[in-house]
Amino acid sequence: QARDPHQPEFMQAVKEVMGCLWPFIEQNPRYGEMGLLERLVEPERVIQFRVSWVDDKGQVQVNRAFRIQHSSAIGPFKGGMRFHPSVNLSILKFLAFEQTFKNALTTLPMGGGKGGSDFDPKGKSDAEVMRFCQALIVELYRHLGPDTDVPAGDIGVGAREVGFMAGMMKKLSNSSASVFTGKGITFGGSLIRPEATGYGTVYFAEEMLKHMRQSLDGLTVSVSGSGNVAQYAIEKCMQMGAKVVTVSDSHGCVVDKAGFTPAKLAALIELKTVRRERLETFAKEQGLIYEAGKRPWHVPVDVALPCATQNELELEDAQTLIKNGVRCVAEGANMPTSLDAVDAFIHAGVLYAPGKASNAGGVAVSGLEMSQNALRLSWSRDEVETRLHAIMRDIHESCVRYSDQTPGKPVNYLNGANIAGFVKVADAMLQQGVY
Ligand code: NDP
Repeated sequence: QARDPHQPEFMQAVKEVMGCLWPFIEQNPRYGEMGLLERLVEPERVIQFRVSWVDDKGQVQVNRAFRIQHSSAIGPFKGGMRFHPSVNLSILKFLAFEQTFKNALTTLPMGGGKGGSDFDPKGKSDAEVMRFCQALIVELYRHLGPDTDVPAGDIGVGAREVGFMAGMMKKLSNSSASVFTGKGITFGGSLIRPEATGYGTVYFAEEMLKHMRQSLDGLTVSVSGSGNVAQYAIEKCMQMGAKVVTVSDSHGCVVDKAGFTPAKLAALIELKTVRRERLETFAKEQGLIYEAGKRPWHVPVDVALPCATQNELELEDAQTLIKNGVRCVAEGANMPTSLDAVDAFIHAGVLYAPGKASNAGGVAVSGLEMSQNALRLSWSRDEVETRLHAIMRDIHESCVRYSDQTPGKPVNYLNGANIAGFVKVADAMLQQGVY
């Protein structure tokens, strides 16, 4: 706290994890030794740099960019790049900290990292986005490598941005070693990577319900966000027989009482990824209700999947969801639920999964992309999806194992995920000594 008083998101993430770890460490004192906790809250390396680039009018633009190399205890630093005006050190440090435990949960050998810039891709031409991505890599390339640090996408960074960054990385390093994941299929990308986070979140929600002898089939679901994670969460919900009744963006939400259909989803994906327009236009075109400035949590549902951004579901939203009978909340985004809202869900007996468990499918398939690149092979859709499904089931089992479940009470996935992720990282750190 004393060291980072101006980093509220980072402090929030640390507080959440430490709150779960404390009782566990009291029972297992060796995890309190060798400065483990003190080392875990300090990134191994933080890189901050200037990105100067020239816009379409010939004007010089300057952005700030970062890469947080949080922990390499179990493998190369791994985590996405975020391009959004809100990006700052606190947000990237929270994301890198979370990523370390999430990557450990996947069972694949990946450390934790995160990066990004306050650059806003909205309203920029493809050529401007390309020049920005190239300028960013001109500096960042020296810190990356297939065994050092392997970035991917996140908010504002999709296939287009990854392509531009991976291309410049290859040119500068004179090596085709794949240093990004989420690449296009034509140059080393993995099938199912675009779908992986959304699909994985829904697989995880299904496991949570199954553990209580329930199923997603026939349930009503609210999804927030309308980007990569939200789109494929909606697709998998529909495949599993659930009815998705909301989506949102940074300006408002759309309510669709009749439920999403494959045709509406295809229109949404086209609107967000090709035309890059807002949901207000989508609602108009589809004849749906648009609520400006609102979040979707007032709509009564059985399952809520927050898939947009951090702290988008606060205490009041949680209370409304609980009052309306929500049974399960699985996070597709990172830390979308504020700490008091998480407490409210757990106390009300709602099944709640933190993002580091439920959204780990994306980085898991990134890990599978790295394996395919190393083998110089591409696996089929079915093979990757089967592996993704198996990993999500394994993560669910680890959470249950470490959750210290009180008989008759729902699994505490918050405890389970934090402790299971921590134990793997901590064991690796203990074995490698202090450095
Ligand atoms: P996208 O950029 O594809 O979509 C982000 C969505 O969230 C958009 O609908 C966006 O609205 C909305 N959004 C962004 N910022 C805000 C805000 N401040 N308030 C309200 N809505 C906002 O990103 P992703 O779908 O990839 O990422 C979504 C979340 O999932 C993030 O938390 C990310 O860290 C997490 N995640 C992503 C993974 C991946 O594989 N992509 C993996 C694991 C986690 P608008 O269109 O108006 O900007």
